[in-house]
Amino acid sequence: MRTKETWFTVLMEGLAKFPPRPTGAGEMFQLFRDGEPRTRASLVAETGQSRSTVAARIDALCGIGLLVPAGEASSTGGRPPSTFAFDPSARIVLGVDLGATHARIAVTDLAGTPLTVLDEPLAISDGPDHVLGWVADTAHKLVAQAGRDVTELAGIGIGLPGPVDHTTGRPVNPPIMPGWDGTDVPAVLHARLGAPVLVDNDVNVMSLGEHATVCPEVDDLLFVKVATGIGAGVIMDGHLRRGAQGAAGDLGHVTVPGAEDIPCRCGNTGCLEAVAGGLAIAQKLRDGGATIAAAPDIVDLVRSGDVAAGQAVRQAGRDIGTVLAASVSLLNPARIVVGGILAGAGEHLMAGIREIVYQRSLPLATQHLRIVPSGAGSQAGVIGAATLVTEQYLAPPTVDALVSSQEDS
Ligand SMILES: [Zn+2]
Repeated sequence: MRTKETWFTVLMEGLAKFPPRPTGAGEMFQLFRDGEPRTRASLVAETGQSRSTVAARIDALCGIGLLVPAGEASSTGGRPPSTFAFDPSARIVLGVDLGATHARIAVTDLAGTPLTVLDEPLAISDGPDHVLGWVADTAHKLVAQAGRDVTELAGIGIGLPGPVDHTTGRPVNPPIMPGWDGTDVPAVLHARLGAPVLVDNDVNVMSLGEHATVCPEVDDLLFVKVATGIGAGVIMDGHLRRGAQGAAGDLGHVTVPGAEDIPCRCGNTGCLEAVAGGLAIAQKLRDGGATIAAAPDIVDLVRSGDVAAGQAVRQAGRDIGTVLAASVSLLNPARIVVGGILAGAGEHLMAGIREIVYQRSLPLATQHLRIVPSGAGSQAGVIGAATLVTEQYLAPPTVDALVSSQEDS
């Protein structure tokens, strides 16, 4: 008689003996994304496919430019075998990071390495015509500076400082972007640059940038932005998770216990953002007699050693920690990264968050959990925006489609 245990044992032994193998050219290409060159023989061993299949797939991947010959491997005798490697310079990508008052644009290669970068003050409130016109003009200029042509663009990734419907690329009621609601950002830029355009909100783009530049080996990560607003990007199994409507990670409007009488700009009361966001902390400090206007002033005050400001930020950290503790129980991330302008207030914010998350989560979920400030530099936004494109462009279905269209032509 086969018990559950015996069929399970058989299954596990079978999987150990015959692990799932990459099948098509697109799947095989994923092996090369670690940057290591490989020989045909090593791919036969790695994929379990026949030598002729491997040779055909290498030819196909070389045909679309994603693989290039990378010299010869050392040999134990006879003719040394040829090696092949991913060529990130095959195409270029445009990464665009638009903030409330600044814009940064980079031309990168397919590995997300910036080739040229430009950083300029630009008000998002100037509206889509002006801002997207500037993006297109600047893109043409930067691509030429990099010695490339816009026809080589694999795609354009853009992060916007407001809610975006990622499937259409249109902003949805963005509070600090007058005139942008419903703008067809992909259509406007595609008309000027002729490449696919992917749009997402700034928090998701920052999460991708942090993941790509600081901790690509961490598969399960929450990136929390603490600024005027509070939001999070959710990376699970190595991929950004947006949820059914793209609203995953919107922590700012989760209710904080004990704050039911505090109104929030969303129309509800007791939201995390209304209690622990930059505006809320600034108001609290003004009520205590401090003369500050916005989030950067809070950071300055904390850094100058102001006790009340330090305490206010620490309490904000505890409130954020309360909401994050629930997220830790739900998602079991390996790392929580804290970014946004208030992360610049240093240990006070981190200490408040850590205090509550470690206290309120079960030991199994926090055993290896690290809660750290963002380590990505100022280019994380543009690299994250470029990653929006490369995640799609280098994925197996796209690579297979490129191979098919090459074979048909
Ligand atoms: Zn709210």
